[in-house]
Amino acid sequence: MKDLFIIFTFMNPYSDRITQIQQTIAQANLCSPHPETAVRLLAVSKTKPSRDICFAYQAGLRHFGESYLQEALSKQKKLAHFAITWHFIGPIQSNKTRAIANNFSWVHSVDRVKIAKRLHEQRAPTLPPLNIFLQVNISGEASKSGVTLEQLPPLVSEIKQFKNLLLRGIMAVPEKQADFETQCRPYRDIYQTVQRLEDPTLNHFSFGMSGDIKAAVHEGATIVRVGTALFGQRNY
Ligand SMILES: *Cc1c(COP(=O)(O)O)cnc(C)c1O
Repeated sequence: MKDLFIIFTFMNPYSDRITQIQQTIAQANLCSPHPETAVRLLAVSKTKPSRDICFAYQAGLRHFGESYLQEALSKQKKLAHFAITWHFIGPIQSNKTRAIANNFSWVHSVDRVKIAKRLHEQRAPTLPPLNIFLQVNISGEASKSGVTLEQLPPLVSEIKQFKNLLLRGIMAVPEKQADFETQCRPYRDIYQTVQRLEDPTLNHFSFGMSGDIKAAVHEGATIVRVGTALFGQRNY
C-alpha cells in the first residue's frame, strides 16, 4: 500500500509544485513583519479541466477558486463527492448572484452594496453565512473592479448588516509589477488602512497571485490565489 502511494505521488503532476509553492509561502511568512498563523493556498483552477483539480486534491489541496460561473458549476457537479471548499473570485454580474450565493463558500470579488445585498437575500437560510471579501482597486486602474480605500469604511458598515454574509476581509489584484518592493506597496497601503479601522472581523487578506506570492505574504496575505504557478499557463 505504501509503495503504491509512493508511485502515485510520483505520478502526480502537481505534488512537487505544490510543495514548492507551500515552501515559498512559509519562507515569506517567516520574514514578514506580521506573520500569519496560517496562509492558505487557494488553487485557481479556472479554464483547467476537472482532472487537474483531482490531482491537486490528491496532493492535498482542498480550496479551489473559479472565475466563470457556468464552468465552475459544471466542475462542482463532476466533483460533488470531493470535500472541496469552492471560492468564487471572478467579476459578479447581478443575474448570477443567486447561483454564486448558493454554490460557493467564499466570494472574493464583492465590490458593490447592490451585489452584497443580493448575495445576502439569495443565500439559502439553511446554509451557513457566505464568507466574503471586499475587493479593493488600489492601482486606480479603470479596467479593474474594486472600491477605493476611501470608499472602504462606509461599505464595510453597510455590508456588515447583511446577516447571511460574513465579511472576512479585503481582496486585491494590483497592477502587475516585476520588482518586489513595488509589488509590496499596494498591499501595505491596504493592510494599514484596514488596521486603522480596528475591526477584528476584517482579519483576512486575499492577496497575491503566481507573480507576487512573496510580496503578498510579506504584507500580510492570509490567502494567496495561485493558478499559473500550479497548473501551468492557461490557454484562454
Ligand atoms: C486568474 C486569477 C488568479 C490566478 O492568477 P495566476 O497569475 O494564474 O496565478 C488570481 N486571482 C484572480 C482574481 C484571478 O482572476
